[in-house]
Amino acid sequence: MTGNPFTGGNRVNVGGVSVSTDHYIDGRRVSSPQTFEDRSPLDWSVKLADISRGDDAVAAQAISAAADAFPEWAALGTVGRGEILHRLADLIDAHIEPLATVECLDMAMLHESLRLRVLSRGARNFRAYADLSVQHEERVWESNGTANRVIRMPAGPTVVITPWNAPFMLSTWKCAPALAAGNTVVLKPAEWSPLSCSLLADLSDTAGMPAGVFNVVQGIGSEVGAALVADRRVRRISFTGSPETARHIGRTAADNIVPFTAELGGKGPFIVFADSDLEAAARKAAGQYDDSGQVCLAGTRLLVEASVRSEFLRLFDEFTDEHVLGDSHDATTTISPLIHPTHFARVQGFVERARKNGDTILRGGAPSDLGGDDGLWYQPTLIQPKSNDSEIVQHEVFGPVLTFQTFTDEADAIRLANSTPYGLSAIVYTSSQARAERMGRAIRAGTIWTNCFLIRDLTAPFGGCGDSGIGREGGDYALDFYSDLKMFQVKEGTTT
Ligand code: NAD
Repeated sequence: MTGNPFTGGNRVNVGGVSVSTDHYIDGRRVSSPQTFEDRSPLDWSVKLADISRGDDAVAAQAISAAADAFPEWAALGTVGRGEILHRLADLIDAHIEPLATVECLDMAMLHESLRLRVLSRGARNFRAYADLSVQHEERVWESNGTANRVIRMPAGPTVVITPWNAPFMLSTWKCAPALAAGNTVVLKPAEWSPLSCSLLADLSDTAGMPAGVFNVVQGIGSEVGAALVADRRVRRISFTGSPETARHIGRTAADNIVPFTAELGGKGPFIVFADSDLEAAARKAAGQYDDSGQVCLAGTRLLVEASVRSEFLRLFDEFTDEHVLGDSHDATTTISPLIHPTHFARVQGFVERARKNGDTILRGGAPSDLGGDDGLWYQPTLIQPKSNDSEIVQHEVFGPVLTFQTFTDEADAIRLANSTPYGLSAIVYTSSQARAERMGRAIRAGTIWTNCFLIRDLTAPFGGCGDSGIGREGGDYALDFYSDLKMFQVKEGTTT
């Protein structure tokens, strides 16, 4: 790929990469008079950019662009749309380095993991849905003397709202199926990490996406985010974030009778049976501190069979000691800073309240001194709660804080696993296939990993139960959500 896609509009230099601070609406850059500050968690004294702060008028402008572009994009068909989405995927792959540079400075995810793993998933999302939408365009069968045919109709303008952790990957996870299904999109990334989605807009432009098909609006959730979801022209809302925000958006979606999908928080159980490979289990458990625990799918409640408590804790300590807190650019770093001082205070607040509650801090329990007074690193922390009702067990912390509890038998493990309002994912370590099957069936969660973690096929359903969300994305499930299904029933013998 030749040429520099990162041009046009008001731009700032972020680690040598030119990033637009504007919205991207109807194929061009649009700025707002009001801005908000974006700083780097790696050094909070560094301001990266003043970003356009969208308002009601910007939201309406973006939805108008998406509504106007919709008929032509829908009519292009799966093959035509797929060609453009494949070009976008290729462009993402060709610009992994600048994307990694910007995402690392903006939200402090490890540079190495962005380069090698996370960003190329963004490209794969576009490729996968470009192909799936062609392969799964319709379903035909016969019954009762009639031919039945189901086709997918593009639904219309779609609002995609994403959180600050893994902003690029999570945005592509939603935008790819929405666009492949024939919808036009207005994406609002989180205000704490807005930059990489601005680069995605540049890449979509270079890929030849028609004006208005893909739009990016920057701003504060309660302002422009709320205005976007309230617009009655919107036909789908896809949200990833916290349950609190989902409740707000869900109320608006209900008022407008708009299908709404919500991928929300988690408090996943990490269950270790005595019959498991304890070393592998303890290593993976210590790995739940990766990305500073800012991972919705993390198994943050360690539930360990009582008979192996001491041995597990010894191994877990050994592996946790191997973690290196540091600059996310450094290949030896495994724990990066938390995203924002407000989030840092939130994580610290959870630990302080646990201490006051009488929960036992088994390790960590304090900020790291890295980065001085303004540093945002928090020590990997393990807390044994006084009771299963403790706040630290029942609420998502979204930081490097795990809880530790023991169980006596399978029934006890299932009781504890299912004892929070969440149900996003669960991890089970056991050498028994029969037990793995029983546990998997009994645990209330959207994804169960047995003796592994974070492995996922893009065609598999993804989502949560309870406070972890509404609906499923992934594969056909996402295409169904972003489409209106239409049924044709034709009586046999109808020839003209
Ligand atoms: P958040 O709910 O505060 O914000 C998410 C997005 O919603 C942001 O873009 C924000 O600007 C926007 N927003 C806020 N108020 C809004 C409103 N009234 N109307 C419209 N938009 C609004 O969440 P966060 O703190 O950015 O993200 C962390 C949360 O996301 C955690 O709970 C985490 O578990 C969850 N998460 C879930 C998944 C998943 O796939 N299940 C993945 C990543 C993160």
